Amino acid sequence: MGVRTRVAPSPTGDPHIATGYVAFMNYAFAKQHGGEFVLRIEDTDRTRSTAASEGAILQALHWLGIAWDEGPDVGGPYGPYRQSERSEIYRRYADQLLAEGHAFRCYCTPERLDAMREQQRREGRPNAYDGRCLHLSAAQRAAEEAAGHASVIRMKVPSEGTCVVNDLLRGPIEFEWSSVDMQVLLKSDGMPTYHLANVVDDHEMRITHVIRGEEWVSSAPKHILLYQYFGWEMPQLAHNPLLRNLDRSKLSKRKNATGILFYKQMGYLPEAVLNFLGLLATATAEGQDEMMDLPALVKHFDLKRLPVGGPYFDVEKLNWLNARYIRERLDVDAFVERVRTWAFDPQRVRAIAALAQPRIERLSDLGPLTAMFFSGRLNVPEERLLDGKLDRDTIRKLYVLSLAVCDGLQEWSVAVIETALREIADRLGRKFRDIVRPLYIAVTGSPTSVPLFDSMEILGRDLVRERLRQALATLGGATSAEIETWRSAPINEVSLS
Ligand code: GLU
Repeated sequence: MGVRTRVAPSPTGDPHIATGYVAFMNYAFAKQHGGEFVLRIEDTDRTRSTAASEGAILQALHWLGIAWDEGPDVGGPYGPYRQSERSEIYRRYADQLLAEGHAFRCYCTPERLDAMREQQRREGRPNAYDGRCLHLSAAQRAAEEAAGHASVIRMKVPSEGTCVVNDLLRGPIEFEWSSVDMQVLLKSDGMPTYHLANVVDDHEMRITHVIRGEEWVSSAPKHILLYQYFGWEMPQLAHNPLLRNLDRSKLSKRKNATGILFYKQMGYLPEAVLNFLGLLATATAEGQDEMMDLPALVKHFDLKRLPVGGPYFDVEKLNWLNARYIRERLDVDAFVERVRTWAFDPQRVRAIAALAQPRIERLSDLGPLTAMFFSGRLNVPEERLLDGKLDRDTIRKLYVLSLAVCDGLQEWSVAVIETALREIADRLGRKFRDIVRPLYIAVTGSPTSVPLFDSMEILGRDLVRERLRQALATLGGATSAEIETWRSAPINEVSLS
């Protein structure tokens, strides 16, 4: 069978730069072997998955120039490629595991499980299901069913021995079976968990190589066991190193912008971003020009030589590459064309014009008024950020809470943004008007501009976040402890003064 790889993002937020990185590696590996690359949408978490996020993921990968052979939009022989459309398949396999004695029904209530975990925490033991329902008799099960108690399906796990995960990058990795939890496979609403759906789909979609982030390595024993239970051949696994901030910590929103579409909006060219991501996954030889297009990146990619020591997300390098693409790969006409598609999307221009029209006297006022829509970071000076009724600490707190709120909103629209910011005013015990001003200045760069919430919607979540993050940094930033306390404090207890 030919090589088949996949990328399997969950549509629960803005498309993450790591999705592009993992997609590139899977794409490159498949293409090196003349194989197929599949896009699968893992949307089994029905409360967090959104169609908007799925659409943005597809858009972001298209923008990067990574094309898939099979996927929810293009179809293919092993579809559907969206897990929410495959519930029946997972249910069938879960039933098979039950019938063959590899899984069991668990009737434990959330309250009981909470109490169990609490006790485990108190006793310093790892959190894991204690097996209460593992040996229920047929009569006990019948009684639970008769009482109408909801159940989940959990997998059985050996209580002793070791499991060896053979990782293409890291070699054999051993896990004690006793440290592996009796994972829930099917939830009480009939939806599968990641583990069941992922294994079933990789098998049904004939995936031969799974290249995914190292955060999934601890899930591998459960997956290996499921493949054994089903009697299926296991795909080869490679857990890639996670992207890191320059200070070696895991790439985080706090230190770097992590949304692919942020880089689009900042005016990076897709070929530069793809080149940058490809380099993070490629060990280039001395003297090799690092400016490479997709075919060259694919040629140089070597899964076995993936730099395991943490690829560093060095934005300076991306800037350098982007500048080279702008100067070396585009003639003036091509450059004009790029500017046109970047800046003058007709819908966006219309939305901006509609805000500006009532606020100008001459067309030449448009430049200064709307420049912030065509800019990236604004470098707003400290005095301007502090110019309002709130003191520095309250503004820092306001920015921290706003950043958290921006992340959490499922929808990015004027009404939703406004409601969320009103809640922040309540939490801070401040007038809405007073909190709007420092937000306004951070986001638009000026105390007088076009309306804030409309601007936020047009600018997009990523850029708004970035401007808030930069404004927070200008005011001295916030420590992890401050962020933790401010974000978790209940309403009305956040107020500083
Ligand atoms: N849905 C998982 C994710 O969001 C996929 C992990 C995997 O590749 O197995 O990363």
